[in-house]
Formats: sequence, structure tokens, C-alpha cells
Amino acid sequence: MRLRHKPWAEDYIKAHPEVVIADPESRKGKWHEEFGNTNPVHVEVGTGKGAFVIGMARQNPHINYIGIELYDSVIVVALEKVLEQESLPNLRLLNVNGKDLTEYFDKGDIGQVYLNFSDPWPKTRHAKRRLTHANFLTLYKELLPEGGEVHFKTDNRGLFEYSLMSMTDFGMKLVFVSLDLHTNEPEDNVRTEYEEKFAAKGQPIYRLEAKFN
Ligand code: SAM
Repeated sequence: MRLRHKPWAEDYIKAHPEVVIADPESRKGKWHEEFGNTNPVHVEVGTGKGAFVIGMARQNPHINYIGIELYDSVIVVALEKVLEQESLPNLRLLNVNGKDLTEYFDKGDIGQVYLNFSDPWPKTRHAKRRLTHANFLTLYKELLPEGGEVHFKTDNRGLFEYSLMSMTDFGMKLVFVSLDLHTNEPEDNVRTEYEEKFAAKGQPIYRLEAKFN
């Protein structure tokens, strides 16, 4: 993603701690208090500009969503979109690195993980940065319940093939694989910003759901 520095982003984010949680480590083990209910919490790592988590939160009011994004100049766009909506009590954003998930979540806090159009990091020496690398799968497994799922969409065939291998090598069970999600697109599919962009170019969208044992 091309990043434009936005000097105002930090202050704007700080002014809205009701959406972008300022001290997420303090919610570890008690996210149900933050949401005021015991509904399941689904997390998207690498939320970008937020279309997916916002769409999912509107579509599924009985699921709580947390979008995690590393860059303040990107998450601030998601924040602006959230503030334009009628209230979305089941959505929060975190401006943190997904590699530190265990600082903010305990086992049982998260019911499901979404990864959408994650950065492919094509060079082998950067493989550990891929959000489907075994190191990240280890983190997700630590936090998800037994049988918890990771749902992944991408336009990038290389990253998709890598992820299929990485997940099966890790012992995960593939429960859904599509090599062209938009032919017979499921009615409840919520498109991300990147998904709209690649779909407009006619590129196939790959999707998988994989389960931990
Ligand atoms: N999911 C969005 C979509 O589909 O439109 C954005 C896709 S964009 C290619 C990937 C996003 O993931 C970027 O905004 C990037 O900053 C974020 N990201 C990458 N690695 C991350 C990490 N370790 N933790 C949090 N966010 C990350």
C-alpha cells in the first residue's frame, strides 16, 4: 500500500479512543467488558482502510469486530469511515502490529481471524513477515479456541499457494478453497478496498478457510 504521511493522523486517532483503543493491553482477557456483551470477537489483521470490518460489523451485529492496522496514516481513513456511520457498537480498531497479538489478547478472547489481501512479501528473506507464516499461525493458534478458523482472501497467486502449504504443513485443515471467489460470489461476501480494485481489473480472487485442530 502506498503510504502518504498524514501529520494530523496521530492527534485525530487520540481524539477518538472510543473507536481506536488507546491502551489495548489493558483489555487483554476482558474484551467482553469493552463491548458490553459476551458475543464472539473476530479480528482482522491488516485492516487497511476498513471497508471489510465495517461491512462485517454492519452485516453481523451479534459479532464483535476488531480491525488491526500497523500504520496510523492508513487506520485513520478507517476511523473516518467509522465516524461517518450510524453507531457501530460492535467495532473497534487497534493501531498496532499483528505480530504482538498476545500482548492484547488472551486465549479465548478471539473466535476467528481474517486476513485480507495481506502484503505478499515475495522475497524469501522476508517470508517471516507474511501473515500466513508459521510464526503468525503459532500466534493465532495460541489465541483461537480449538477448531478456530483463519479466513484468507488475496489476489496474489504466489501468496495463496504459499499460504495453502504453510497452513497444511502446520497441521491445519482446509475447509474451503476457491480459486475464483467472484464467479458465484456468495451473497454475504464483504469486499475489501483491495478486492474491489482487483475485481475491477478482472483478476481472480482466491479465498480459503482453514481450521486449527
Ligand atoms: N485488508 C485491506 C484490504 O484488503 O483492502 C488492506 C490490504 S493492504 C495490501 C495490507 C495492510 O496490512 C496494510 O495496510 C498494512 O499496513 C497492513 N499490515 C501489514 N502487516 C501488518 C501487521 N503485521 N500488523 C498490522 N497490519 C499490518
